[in-house]
Amino acid sequence: MFDPILRRWVESMPIAEVRYETQVIEIIEEQDCVKATVKRDGKRFEIQALYAVGCDGATSIVREALGETLDDKIPLTYTTNAIFESAALNKLVSGREAYRFIVLNERGPWSTIVAIDGWKRWRFSIIGDNRQVAYADSEIEQAIEKSVGGRFDFRILSIVPWMRREMVARSFGRHRMFVAGDAAHLMSPTGGFGMNTGIGDAVDLGWKLAATITGWGGAGLLESYEPERRPVALRNVAEATGNLRRMLSARDTPPPPECFESGTIGAAARRRYGEWFTDEMHREWHTTGIQLGYRYQDSPICVSDDSASPPDLVSTYTPTTSPGARAPHVWLTDHVSTLDLFGRGFVLLRTGEPDDRDQELVSCARAYGVPLHIVGVDQATLGPLYEFQRTLVRPDGHVAWRGDDPAKDVEGLVQTVRGAQGEATQ
Ligand SMILES: Cc1cc2nc3c(=O)[nH]c(=O)nc-3n(C[C@H](O)[C@H](O)[C@H](O)COP(=O)(O)OP(=O)(O)OC[C@H]3O[C@@H](n4cnc5c(N)ncnc54)[C@H](O)[C@@H]3O)c2cc1C
Repeated sequence: MFDPILRRWVESMPIAEVRYETQVIEIIEEQDCVKATVKRDGKRFEIQALYAVGCDGATSIVREALGETLDDKIPLTYTTNAIFESAALNKLVSGREAYRFIVLNERGPWSTIVAIDGWKRWRFSIIGDNRQVAYADSEIEQAIEKSVGGRFDFRILSIVPWMRREMVARSFGRHRMFVAGDAAHLMSPTGGFGMNTGIGDAVDLGWKLAATITGWGGAGLLESYEPERRPVALRNVAEATGNLRRMLSARDTPPPPECFESGTIGAAARRRYGEWFTDEMHREWHTTGIQLGYRYQDSPICVSDDSASPPDLVSTYTPTTSPGARAPHVWLTDHVSTLDLFGRGFVLLRTGEPDDRDQELVSCARAYGVPLHIVGVDQATLGPLYEFQRTLVRPDGHVAWRGDDPAKDVEGLVQTVRGAQGEATQ
């Protein structure tokens, strides 16, 4: 679905080359480069690069090269997905449209049907358990009909059995080789955190790689990838598994026999059970805190301060400029957010009177090639979310440092945020 959009974007960059149908069969790191042996059209050749990021999913060859194997991990469930097309189903559920239907039988949750395009494309899943089952195509067809409650017009496009795993790699990489996305962490789709967590990895690693290649990133910059992103992955994976367990807990408290009766008794029993089950599932659908509230609290490239930061809650996102957190969104004009200021380098967001001492920070950063500029905003516009007069925001929009006064140790601050602590100063 995303591929055409991403492809257009990547291909617009003169430094990028996209190669489809090309398989990496071996990857090794050497002192000054990474070498990948790849196969295409039966031919093997070698690609050499300064760095490699394995975004190669659950069976990542790059993760294996980093010494991590998944063989010993037992899947949470063996699930079977089928994508199907049906314009009829929308009519059948008319008035009861939903993103996800969870179908329960006498033993509890059995299958799900998820709307893909809100019109005629759907994803059916037999949730399964820890036993591996292979279904024939005809059995999947019957299971879809049973889930919908009768025959209707549909066409199966694909059937994919897959393993629901819970995994966070011990290593997210080092030196020249890293993993991101499902190669680094696998989680139950319950909650929809998987791709979001992967995109978070890419955002974190992207600017650090660019800074290192351009020359202003210190030796510790890429090293900060793992301590920043691994805790977020552990947090999200645990929440996703919790959501799965909450959904499957209905197998311990399955629907009572009246739920399967017709007439008013059955309808009332289903309504009662449905309300209880919806309550149980509530947490999975309210996760703004998970999506936006993660922060790189113990990051070696952020300067922590003693102020208390808001609690990290699943359902509530409390914007904060606490170092390591995402710098909050505030409208500066009708159409410009603080978030529009970030993404191209460091930004020192400053309220109050201009102070020449801030220029020392800019000059020091410049001496190391670090892109940093000051944006002055008046406090009334910025509002109370930005509690300090100075907030230094990293290229990825996370807060690196904050304070009311200009930084005293500008050299130390620049060295920390560019990952060069302990390196020789200029
Ligand atoms: C049923 C289901 C529902 C989901 N719903 C959501 C959701 O709502 N929200 C959400 O955020 N996430 C969701 N996810 C998770 C999401 O799909 C994944 O987290 C995401 O696709 C991972 O992206 P990735 O690029 O890291 O890995 P992948 O999508 O696995 O891509 C890896 C790519 O690498 C290629 N590759 C592998 N090995 C090699 C090799 N040796 N050489 C060359 N190429 C190779 C593969 O062919 C593949 O194209 C869901 C997952 C499932 C299974």
